[in-house]
Amino acid sequence: MIYVDNAATTKPKPEVIEAITRCLTDTWGNPSSLHSFGRDAKSIVDQSRKTIAEFIGAHPSEIIFTSGACESNSQAICGFLKNNDAKFITTAIEHKSIMNIADEYKHRSIVISVDKYGFIDANTLRENLECYPALVSIQWANNEIGTVQNMKAISELVHSCGCVLHTDATQIIPDRKINIKGIDMMSFSGQKFGAPKGIGVLYVRRGIELSPIIYGSQEKSRRGGTENVPYIAGLATAVKSIQYPTQELRDYFVHEVLNTISNCHLVGCQCDDNRLKNNASIVFDGINSETALLMLSSKGIYASSGSACNSSNANGSHVLKAIGEDGKNVIRFTFDNNTKEEIDIVIKELSNIIYLLRR
Ligand code: PMP
Repeated sequence: MIYVDNAATTKPKPEVIEAITRCLTDTWGNPSSLHSFGRDAKSIVDQSRKTIAEFIGAHPSEIIFTSGACESNSQAICGFLKNNDAKFITTAIEHKSIMNIADEYKHRSIVISVDKYGFIDANTLRENLECYPALVSIQWANNEIGTVQNMKAISELVHSCGCVLHTDATQIIPDRKINIKGIDMMSFSGQKFGAPKGIGVLYVRRGIELSPIIYGSQEKSRRGGTENVPYIAGLATAVKSIQYPTQELRDYFVHEVLNTISNCHLVGCQCDDNRLKNNASIVFDGINSETALLMLSSKGIYASSGSACNSSNANGSHVLKAIGEDGKNVIRFTFDNNTKEEIDIVIKELSNIIYLLRR
């Protein structure tokens, strides 16, 4: 199998599986129990919280463990909006978990547009910020087209207007080292860098008041539910062994595909720093990407047509539409530890498939 769908999820790392198994076997107590077996589990949660906090430059008390980025996004935004009358400003290319909240809070939401590369329109953001007290949620990097926003400039703009900034950092976390400075709340998910599905983080800067969306006493009453100690340990292990990609595979792949297959183009930002290093999302004129994906899959090549979370949506991708693409003829390849030989096989099979589909 050749797996080039790492933006959807990544293979759990052996050391992560080992940490999880150790926890399930030896330290399966409830971290809220007062006996020493429970305290052993609590100490794993505390230590992991410290590791995650250090990793992003936060204080351990600012870290809330969740079930993933969907929950973190929901907790950050709904937990904030429940508390006050602030407007909610977001963009047209956010993850569905955020687009759905904007829909639910329609009466107080503003969805700002992006340009053809996926960059937010700073003037529209500025105009809206000057009118209202608001919570702003802008993803750091896009999961479909790989565009990386200028978060420093966005943060300065948002804070100069006295507003609060949340970012969905799910895709930037595995791509490069980031720092939490200038961010008020941040979501991410372990499954994108070698931890399992079902564990995530919400960073909440001290002083930001949120109402819980899952009630209970854990996480200082900010997120109920017995802590998932094994996955929390797995997440901390994944963070410690994170290895950032280089862009060489992507550049080689894009260069070869654009040169060997006619009528195709790369979507999203074309420039290096503002694109995720492992993302090649390519439009192939005149094909249906779902058919192409099934044909690739029959050859043991696993890619995607965009967001896996949105694959059941018959209307196609809202992200691709927002940047002016049709949305039904894009294939997203997201690399990890692939070899050049694997990439060559993908290019060969892909060109055969595109040829057959166009014939
Ligand atoms: N935000 C972004 C940008 C994502 O790519 C994803 C996963 N596709 C999520 C949120 C949701 O993550 P999870 O499914 O782990 O909750």
